[in-house]
Amino acid sequence: MKCVQVDTNQIATIVRKVLESMAQNGGATNEQAGIFRTVDEAVEAAWLAQKRLMALNLEKRNELIGAMREAAVANARLLAEMAVRETGMGRTDDKTAKNLLAARKTPGTEDLRTGAYSGDHGLTITEQAPFGVIAAITPVTNPIATVINNGIGMVAAGNAVVFCPHPSARSSCNKAVEILHRAIVEAGGPPHVLTTLAEPSIEKAGELMRHRRVNLIVATGGPGVVRAALGSGKKAIGAGAGNPPAVVDETADIPKAARDIVAGAGFDNNLPCIAEKVLIAVAGVADALLEQLRRHGALVVPSHWVEKLTSTVFTEVTEDTTSSGGAGHNPRRRWVLNKQWVGKDARVILEASGYSIPGDVRLAVVEVGRDHPLVQEEQLMPILPLVRAKNVDEAIELAVEVEHGYRHTAVMHSKHVDHMTRLARAIQTTLFVKNAPSYAGIGLGGEGFTSFTIAGPTGEGLTSARCFTRQRRCTLVDALSIV
Ligand code: NAD
Repeated sequence: MKCVQVDTNQIATIVRKVLESMAQNGGATNEQAGIFRTVDEAVEAAWLAQKRLMALNLEKRNELIGAMREAAVANARLLAEMAVRETGMGRTDDKTAKNLLAARKTPGTEDLRTGAYSGDHGLTITEQAPFGVIAAITPVTNPIATVINNGIGMVAAGNAVVFCPHPSARSSCNKAVEILHRAIVEAGGPPHVLTTLAEPSIEKAGELMRHRRVNLIVATGGPGVVRAALGSGKKAIGAGAGNPPAVVDETADIPKAARDIVAGAGFDNNLPCIAEKVLIAVAGVADALLEQLRRHGALVVPSHWVEKLTSTVFTEVTEDTTSSGGAGHNPRRRWVLNKQWVGKDARVILEASGYSIPGDVRLAVVEVGRDHPLVQEEQLMPILPLVRAKNVDEAIELAVEVEHGYRHTAVMHSKHVDHMTRLARAIQTTLFVKNAPSYAGIGLGGEGFTSFTIAGPTGEGLTSARCFTRQRRCTLVDALSIV
């Protein structure tokens, strides 16, 4: 055996590095926690783990999913607190509710279906098989709920996952992966079914997408990451941006509509992609709606303050779009979102604009015209623009325009079945929520399972385990058909 001389300084350095690494990862060393330095290490570990996962039977896989759910429920609040502290966005109670929703209502293996064809020529079955290793790129806005939701669904389908969290939510997301990873191992599953990157970045997300052992990319975020995933040359699920309109017509129960709008648009400071982002009220009920919004805790910003608030939330830039060789000066005005206010409390944003309010407020409502940047841009802040429409026809037309073809989410408050049907047909969104806060559409106070990866661009809709599978067919000729 070869002996190596190590002096006390070297020992001290090694111990310090190990302790730093353990502190960073809540007591476990990186690899034991599923947290890897390089993309290659994480993918190779996940690849091996997936083989071991597939050697277990479905009953065991169910047990692992049960253990993940329990661990996620037990740590829902702790992880919510960490995420709020780290990202500086959102509200702890609401993030806790999202984490619990993801833990409890994300479908497991029961989501997988076997199909069968039988007849003169025997029996053919189709089964939903795993892809192998999935690259899951996750957003800063629902950091923990997405890790829990993707983690449960992807493992239920028999995959291993390499997460690449948003860099601004790295520590809390990696803590969530560590907790779920530990739950799997303690329940008798293989290590590294869930892995993540110690230092995620856009560059590493790209490297992960290109890795030869990654078979499926699931990108949850804005247009940039969805474009990158779809341009990767691999199978990709893209869950992108939205700008959900909420339409209130003259038949709506106005006090209930107001209560639901404050609850939905104020939830987690409007961070969910599904949250009401533009309020469109038919003129005949707009004043009554504003009054009820006030009664249900919203602050209606006076018209003389709109400009100050707008220039806090956005910076106006002028671009010269004159092409080379073109004639004359051709300036174009554009509004750029000031991202430091994303997910902040309404009070903080109002105060930044110079408008002081005595206490907390869930939502600020501001009446503007249809071309206003607050209407046209997805801001992810509890500042809800209200636009008046002459009648329901104009309201539907405007809702379609401000949704920008994202096909994401729309909300309507109405008792008129024809109005609701007309908006649903015109807008073609993945989610259409009627007479409830937007979050009812992902199973919070509404029927149905939950998802935090809503794939409008690629069409899977609310993703669940079955979306993370490949169809395989098995045919036996002239036997096993029993009639
Ligand atoms: P973001 O696009 O800035 O980042 C999302 C993730 O993608 C992060 O991990 C980021 O590091 C990575 N990323 C960004 N650009 C990339 C690129 N070019 N190549 C590779 N990786 C890249 O979004 P965000 O601020 O974290 O989240 C908010 C956005 O996500 C909003 O637009 C919101 O509507 C959307 N969103 C959609 C859903 C959905 O289910 N459809 C869910 C949550 C959030």
